[in-house]
Amino acid sequence: MAEFELIERYFSALSRPDASVLLGVGDDCALLDPPQGQHLAMTMDTLIAGRHFLADAEPFGIGHKSLAVNLSDLAAMGARPAWALLSLSLPRIDHAWLTDFSAGFSALAGEYGVQLVGGDTCQGELSITVQLTGYLMPGREMRRSAAGVGDGVYVTGTLGDAALALDRQKAGSPLAELQQRLDRPRPRVEEGQALAALGVRACIDISDGLSADLGHVCRQSGCAARIHLDQLPLSAPVREYLRAGGDIRPIVSGGDDYELCFTAPARIAPRLAGLGVTRIGEILPGEGVELLDASSRALDLPPAWEHFSS
Ligand code: ADP
Ligand code: MG
Repeated sequence: MAEFELIERYFSALSRPDASVLLGVGDDCALLDPPQGQHLAMTMDTLIAGRHFLADAEPFGIGHKSLAVNLSDLAAMGARPAWALLSLSLPRIDHAWLTDFSAGFSALAGEYGVQLVGGDTCQGELSITVQLTGYLMPGREMRRSAAGVGDGVYVTGTLGDAALALDRQKAGSPLAELQQRLDRPRPRVEEGQALAALGVRACIDISDGLSADLGHVCRQSGCAARIHLDQLPLSAPVREYLRAGGDIRPIVSGGDDYELCFTAPARIAPRLAGLGVTRIGEILPGEGVELLDASSRALDLPPAWEHFSS
């Protein structure tokens, strides 16, 4: 099967006509008509078999996740997602795999009105790169550098679910309740835009763990954060794991939750009620992230996992 037939069969259908897409899949470039007066927000993420997912992982989930991680970046900026490019490196043409992969990608793209407008396909080790562009109103973006001393630190959803799910999966006893948090993360796209509209200016998505990602906010904002571990929002399985004596460190350093962590001054706090967010700490002068348990003892955390560190 020629490359263009493969693209036609699995990906052209994902390019739904839309007023903003003058030319989609099929020409040398996509041609877009972005909304006037908006700023474009662009991001890109690569998933490599054996590193970011198991080579035999279900392809629907891989399609979902390859877009979800990019949606999460746009969510953290407060942007509205719009157009995607997809670069696929495949060891061979596997129709069953491609059908499920494109279905997973397409289902999530459809939910958020994302148009696949182009990409590239080549033969090589299994790897997927998605480039996603969205837009936002000038001045509405949420930067890592915008946290201020006195701000509260907040997160969406619950933390540590993906880390616990991965741990249980590796141990051969997967946790049905949490498996979707790992395989099909729900990016906080609506929440990101809502926070930006409420005046939140500092935000990051949690892909590498709370402590590491909040650390980026502190570094770029020139401040410190104090987190109260007893205030972390936790799912029932994670609570159960901790009650049974489980170590809290993987819960605060484990990645892949794709929740948002943001900071907000007191005047915005009342507007956050009803958004399903939890206050977990505060921004202070200084540097670094301090994690305190219920008796105010600091938790000692080894450096978080980083790619290329091994
Ligand atoms: P070129 O050689 O000019 O780069 P290609 O043959 O690579 O063109 O791609 C032809 C068309 O198909 C282009 O519009 C490109 O954006 C699109 N395309 C290629 N691979 C993919 C893919 N995996 N998903 C979506 N569109 C793709
Ligand atoms: Mg090409």
